[in-house]
Amino acid sequence: MNQEQPASSAPARMPINEALISIVLPVFNEQSVLPQLLQAVEESLQSTGSQYEIIFVNDGSSDKSGPILDDLADLNSRVRILHFAKNFGHQAAVQAGLLHATGDAIVIMDADMQDSPAAIIDFIEYWQSGYDVVYAIRTDRKEGVFKRWAFQTFHKTLNLIASTSIPRDAGNFGLIDRQVAVQIAQLNDRDRYFPGLRSWVGFRQIGVPVERLARYDENPRVSFIQLCRLAKTAIFSFSFFPLMIFYVIAALSAVVCIALTSFVLYHKLITGLAIPGWASTTITASFFGTLNALGIGILGEYVTRIYDQVRARPMFIVGTKTNFDSPELEAPL
Ligand code: UDP
Ligand code: MG
Repeated sequence: MNQEQPASSAPARMPINEALISIVLPVFNEQSVLPQLLQAVEESLQSTGSQYEIIFVNDGSSDKSGPILDDLADLNSRVRILHFAKNFGHQAAVQAGLLHATGDAIVIMDADMQDSPAAIIDFIEYWQSGYDVVYAIRTDRKEGVFKRWAFQTFHKTLNLIASTSIPRDAGNFGLIDRQVAVQIAQLNDRDRYFPGLRSWVGFRQIGVPVERLARYDENPRVSFIQLCRLAKTAIFSFSFFPLMIFYVIAALSAVVCIALTSFVLYHKLITGLAIPGWASTTITASFFGTLNALGIGILGEYVTRIYDQVRARPMFIVGTKTNFDSPELEAPL
C-alpha cells in the first residue's frame, strides 16, 4: 500500500447513505459484456449503502454497444449514457465522464472487467475515512509477458524523469473526491494522461493493491500504438528531461573538445608528431557540436517555458482553508 499523506487531518465525510457515488465507464465496442458489467458494478455499490449513478461514455462504438446501453438506461434511471459523435479515445471519454458526473466521489474504471468491481467497496471505505484519491495499484497482472514488460519499463522511466511523482503500476482505476475531480477536469492539458494529472493535483492520496484481472475477451481496444502515444504524452507532459538532456550532451562535447585540443597541442609543441589537417578538422567539429547542443538546450529553456505558460496549469491548488472568513480577493494584489 502506498500511503502518501495521512487522512488524520481530513474533515469527516457525509454518512454513506447520503453520499452519491458516480461511476465513469468508457466504452468502445464492448457489446457482449455490458449487462454483466452493470450488474457487477451495481452489486458492489448496493453493498456499500450509497446512492449512485453509472455513466457510460460510449466512445463512438461501431458494434451494438450504443443501443444496448440505451436499453439498459431505459430500464434503470441510475444509468446515464454519453454517446460520442465518433471515437475520440479513452482519455477523452474519461474527461467527458468527469465533466458530467454529479457524485460526491467519482470512480473511474474500464468496461472490460479488468478492473474488479469489488474493489469499489474498498475505495469508498478509504474515501469515507478521509482520503480524497484512492487509486488501484495493479498486482498480479493477467496480461501477456511483453505487455507487462512494456508497462514496467514505462513506469520506471517515467518515475526516473517526471517532475511529479506518479505511482508505479497505477492506471485510471480509482476513486476521486468531487473537489479533486473538479480540479482535474479544469486542467487545460489537451493531451491528457489521467494518472499523471491525478497525482499532480495532490490532496490526500492512497494506493490500494488490486488484482488486475484478465480482459473478458482477448482483444484490447486500445492498440499498442495508442498505448505508445499515451506513454509519450505522459513523458512529455510531466518531464522536460528530453530537452534538458542537451545540456548534458553539450557538457560531454565540451570535454571531448578540450581533450582533443590538449592532445593536439601536446603533439604539436612537445613531440612534434601532429598530423597536418587532422587537428583543425576534429577540433572544429567537436567545438561546433558543443555549440549546437548548447543552442538546443537554450532553445529548450524557451520552449519549455512557452509550453508551461500555454498549458496554464494553476500555480497552486488550495485543499482546505483554516480561519479564513472573508472571501478571496477578486483581483490579486
Ligand atoms: N476505450 C475507449 N475508447 C477507445 C479505446 C478503449 O473508451 O478508443 C475503453 C475500452 O472500452 C475500455 C477501456 O477504454 O473500457 C480500456 O481499454 P482497453 O481494455 O483496450 O485498454 P487496456 O486495458 O489494454 O489498457
Ligand atoms: Mg483493458
